[in-house]
Amino acid sequence: MEVQTGEPERRAARRDEAVRAAVEQGLLGPDAAVAGLLDVTGIRESAAALRAAFDAVLAPGTPVLHAFAVKATPLVAVVRLLHEAGIGAEVASPGELALARAAGVPAGRTVLDSPAKTQEELREALALGIAVNADNPQELHRLDALVGRAPTRSPLGIRVNPQIGGGTIGATSTATPTSKFGVALRDAGAREWVVRACLERPWLTRLHAHTGSQGIPLALLARGVAETYALAEEINERAGRRQIDTLDIGGGLPVNFAGEAAAPSYADYARLLAEEVPGLCGGRYGLVTEFGRSLLAKHGTVVARVEYAKSAGGRRIAVTHAGVQVATRTVYAPQAWPLRIAAYDTKGRPKQGPEAVQDVAGPACFSGDLLAEGRALPLLEQGDYAAALDTGAYYFAHHYSYNSLARPGVYGFAPDASGGVAFATAREPQTVAEVVAESGGAHATALTSLRAPERR
Ligand SMILES: *Cc1c(COP(=O)(O)O)cnc(C)c1O
Repeated sequence: MEVQTGEPERRAARRDEAVRAAVEQGLLGPDAAVAGLLDVTGIRESAAALRAAFDAVLAPGTPVLHAFAVKATPLVAVVRLLHEAGIGAEVASPGELALARAAGVPAGRTVLDSPAKTQEELREALALGIAVNADNPQELHRLDALVGRAPTRSPLGIRVNPQIGGGTIGATSTATPTSKFGVALRDAGAREWVVRACLERPWLTRLHAHTGSQGIPLALLARGVAETYALAEEINERAGRRQIDTLDIGGGLPVNFAGEAAAPSYADYARLLAEEVPGLCGGRYGLVTEFGRSLLAKHGTVVARVEYAKSAGGRRIAVTHAGVQVATRTVYAPQAWPLRIAAYDTKGRPKQGPEAVQDVAGPACFSGDLLAEGRALPLLEQGDYAAALDTGAYYFAHHYSYNSLARPGVYGFAPDASGGVAFATAREPQTVAEVVAESGGAHATALTSLRAPERR
């Protein structure tokens, strides 16, 4: 594995500076008890690293689209930042498509994948010219009808599941024998069905596989790509032409949640693909990638104020404002999704002092609402801040409204001209009035106005 020396340290230093500045500038404080911070410098660096890694192994001139999996951080400003850094968008719902369009991502740099696309979503995608990967035979029949009705610029493909096996986290393993995505290639007759489906439809020009996410080792990801490549070769051979001209290899580069280093790197993965699937890189196929977590995770931090510090049964507990509403996966599946926690003092400076074993709890009303259990950290005290690190993907932008807790604000940060830290709002904190409105505030009398059943 390759670790770029200095890069993790610089990232940690930027984060510490940002926490201090956020407290100083009032983005965090008694009346702003939790916020998400995004490191704009780091996001740009990851986008550049992704592009450079694949450029280094692909034949010159190979068409390549790196599409950010919008579900990882569904914030318009993030999608826009990545778009300006040369990264497109992979979307999987009408909402994500609308976010990508609001961010200015053109149709030609957008890919639509989802296992449940409606007739109307497909029609819209083809009208716009967005790339679509059909998930299953029924969806392909819908595409048949749409393609027959009107010409489209959309590149169209089939999603396959190479069924190469899962990783350490069941919920993010997408290439097990029974995963719900794509056409399961090893099922009886399925591979032949895909080949014939393509031979009968000259407009099918892509194969897509996303063989997993966090918890899948690189070697397994590469095997999934190799199987997909082999299928493309078979189709092209039987077609007697290069019908499949682009492979969409999905995302899934795992993230290191145990330390600061961003490892494995995009360069590690690209080099492995070049070794294991050399034909993919030789210029005969265009390439689409769909990375999510690995682009954003390291660049986001949830910072929450310690409202109270207490103890129970001998255990120290810091009661903070970040819990299940921002770190849903960690709270419900702490073994699979552990997070590093950093302690900051009342002024947002890294907290010094001897470590104490403590729980870092959230604000929700159930006892399992813990960001970390039994963690050794400098003792968190009232008015300090606890930061959940590596939370830029699948965390604070994925609000879970348990206890009607408000969505926190999200702020991007970057150095300002005078050596300080400048912030920009990527998402406003949700107000209590908005919580009421989203909870049907306009329909307060809806249920009482229904007639009571007549008594007999
Ligand atoms: C979730 C998803 C991705 C992104 O996965 P990461 O692990 O975040 O890189 C890419 N493609 C598809 C189809 C997905 O469902």
